Amino acid sequence: MKEPIERENEGLKLENSYPISEGVEKIIKQRISNPKEQEATRGALIFLSQKIGEVKYDEVCGMEIKNGGITLLIEYRTSAYFSDEEQKRFFLEISHLILKIDDYEINIMDIMPEDCRALFDPKSNDLEKSGEYPEEKIVTVYGDITEPKVILALLHEIGHIHAEPEKYGKPFRKTNTNQEIVLSERKAWAFALRIIKPFLRQENLFNKQAINKFKNLSLDCVKEHI
Ligand SMILES: [Zn+2]
Repeated sequence: MKEPIERENEGLKLENSYPISEGVEKIIKQRISNPKEQEATRGALIFLSQKIGEVKYDEVCGMEIKNGGITLLIEYRTSAYFSDEEQKRFFLEISHLILKIDDYEINIMDIMPEDCRALFDPKSNDLEKSGEYPEEKIVTVYGDITEPKVILALLHEIGHIHAEPEKYGKPFRKTNTNQEIVLSERKAWAFALRIIKPFLRQENLFNKQAINKFKNLSLDCVKEHI
C-alpha cells in the first residue's frame, strides 16, 4: 500500500455544483411544506457537501486531508464484494478512517464490529440509498467520504448495528413495526451525533444546525418509505 499523501486545504470550498439527488429533492418537496424551510434544508445539505479535501480515488489509495482544523485520514481499497453490476456501482472499501480535531480523534473502524466492512461509492450522490446489511455484515454509503454528510451517513449506518446488535450477522427478517423502524432510525442518529459531537463547531464543516436539518430530512425519508 502506498503512503498516504498529505494535502492541506485552505478554508471552506464548495466542490459539488448541486449535491442533492432527485430522490432527496422529492422528499424535501413532499415532506416540508414551508418553502423557506425547504430552502434551509437544501442549504444545510449543500453546506455538509463541502469536502474536507479533494481525493482522486483512482490515483491513490490513501490520503490525509485537512480543512478548518479538521483532519481526515483515509485509506481504502477497491472492493470486489457487493459491487452492483446492474447499476455500474463502483464501491471502495474503507480500511482506515480517522477524523481528528485538536487533540481529539476518532477511528471509525474502532466503532464497527471487527468483521464488518464499510463500502462507499465516491461517484454517487444518492445518499438516501445508503444502508446497513446485517446479514452480509456490510454498511454502504453513496457518496464521497470526504464530505461531512457522507461521514454522518456512515456513522448513522454503524449506529444501526449498535441499535440492534441482536440482528448483526443474522438473516434479514422484516419483523419491525413502523414504530420500531422510526425508533431504530432515532437511535442510529443518536449514535452518529454522539460520535461526531466533539467536531461540532459553529465555524467548521460539521455545523450543528446543518446537521440537525440533515437528521430531520433523513427521518422524513424513512417516514416516506414506511
Ligand atoms: Zn437508518
